[in-house]
Amino acid sequence: MGLLKAPENTPVWVEENNCKACDLCVAYCPAGVLAMVPEPKTILGAMVKVVYPDSCIGCNDCELECPDFAIMVADRKEYKFAKLSKEAKERAEAIKKNHYMAREEDIKALCA
Ligand code: SF4
Ligand code: SF4
Repeated sequence: MGLLKAPENTPVWVEENNCKACDLCVAYCPAGVLAMVPEPKTILGAMVKVVYPDSCIGCNDCELECPDFAIMVADRKEYKFAKLSKEAKERAEAIKKNHYMAREEDIKALCA
């Protein structure tokens, strides 16, 4: 539950003005929903993106771990979240192994 109004029909979203690109939410996400992408305008040169919103299981870990209240998860009463799939779990591991950065296929998914 965030301080800002939720975008409609969205499981998880980022308030980029508050995000300091610390990677913590990516590290905690069990479903490979999030990844960092290069963003030269930010201090750390990256920004977190919601790459696979359809895989979000609504666990709230990202929101609870974010030190800056920059990522918010929809209310369970308002959004039907996914179940954790094997594919999502494996993707989460692969993104973590890639130093929390989006892989080539994740960038493609983001642009699709
Ligand atoms: S709510 Fe859980 S599954 Fe969804 S993006 Fe946050 S950490 Fe990942
Ligand atoms: S944990 Fe918060 S501040 Fe850190 S990258 Fe995620 S949204 Fe940004």
